[in-house]
Amino acid sequence: MFEMPERMTQTPEPMSSGMKEPDTLASPPLASTGVRFSVVVPVYNEQQVVSVTHARLKAVMDSLGEPYELIFVDDGSADDTPALLRDIAESDANVRVLRFSRNFGHQAAIKAGIDHALGDAVIVIDGDLQDPPELIPKLVEQWRAGYQVVYAKRTDRQGETWFKRWSATTFYRLLRLLTDVQIPLDTGDFRLMDRQVCDVLRSIPEKHPFVRGLVAWVGFPQASVEYVREPRFAGTSKYSMTKMVKLSMDAVTSFSAKPLQLPLYAGLLLSVLSLAGLAYTACRSTLSGHAVSAVDVLTLVNLFVDGLVFLSLGIAGQYIARIYDEARNRPLYIVERRLGFGEHPYQQK
Ligand code: UDP
Ligand code: MG
Repeated sequence: MFEMPERMTQTPEPMSSGMKEPDTLASPPLASTGVRFSVVVPVYNEQQVVSVTHARLKAVMDSLGEPYELIFVDDGSADDTPALLRDIAESDANVRVLRFSRNFGHQAAIKAGIDHALGDAVIVIDGDLQDPPELIPKLVEQWRAGYQVVYAKRTDRQGETWFKRWSATTFYRLLRLLTDVQIPLDTGDFRLMDRQVCDVLRSIPEKHPFVRGLVAWVGFPQASVEYVREPRFAGTSKYSMTKMVKLSMDAVTSFSAKPLQLPLYAGLLLSVLSLAGLAYTACRSTLSGHAVSAVDVLTLVNLFVDGLVFLSLGIAGQYIARIYDEARNRPLYIVERRLGFGEHPYQQK
């Protein structure tokens, strides 16, 4: 029952465009905390699944033979999940539980897990077993090869409605069009991140974190491992339509200023076209002696003024984008490694 499905493929190909490959093969040293791996599992009303998830994760992590912790983040569940997690934590010393005071959302749960994780590598995995725990050793293999972010990329999604498949596919493609950060297609939050990447994520204080976007944004050598997304083990999706819309809005607004540029382009187009229209009307009446229609002129002047209004909205948008940039307070740059600096007086972590 807990065996790896045969369909699951593992093609550890490096990410293409913009993704860096590692230039080191050195195995990272064990963190001072003594924890090698942290597995972060967000759960919300998963009473039907959580015990099986724990058993499967435990089997996989034990097989890796290094110290690990399983961090279950209970996102304000209202069913038996909290009681089950308490029992699990009591019976397994590797388990830690973070319980939210209410439902704050999947992304907040992931962020909280990363913030509390101690491991050299942190693996984020959904609690409903759509992401097979048995893929973790493949992610770890890539990490040991020097990649600091290893994505699990879905080649197929099973047991999901056509609407879910269609909306997910459209969402990833639209996001790619709108944003400057190359967020890998068809990847969810199932991934492994190195301690250095997690430290950068911890320092980002965003109020609407879109974790998979942030992970793409931070850089570092990244690779992907392909897998077939399984149907849910039990229960139903906890991503309501409202939550999906909110996630898409968070993704677009935190990684793209393009919507703010739209009035600028619309304004420019409208002003230029209406001016051309006015010039054409003036030429036509001068050359052919036609009387100028007052309605035409008024309409064109109106359109021109509308264009100016749009233009100024677009210009204001550019300033808003800058203010937003400052308010998000993302680091201006991230240093991966320093060579030859020694104990530099301005050494920045
Ligand atoms: N989840 C969560 N908070 C939420 C919604 C979902 O922590 O508000 C968890 C959920 O328990 C699961 C993971 O996030 O472990 C993914 O959610 P789900 O499987 O419902 O989403 P789907 O796979 O249908 O997109
Ligand atoms: Mg799911």
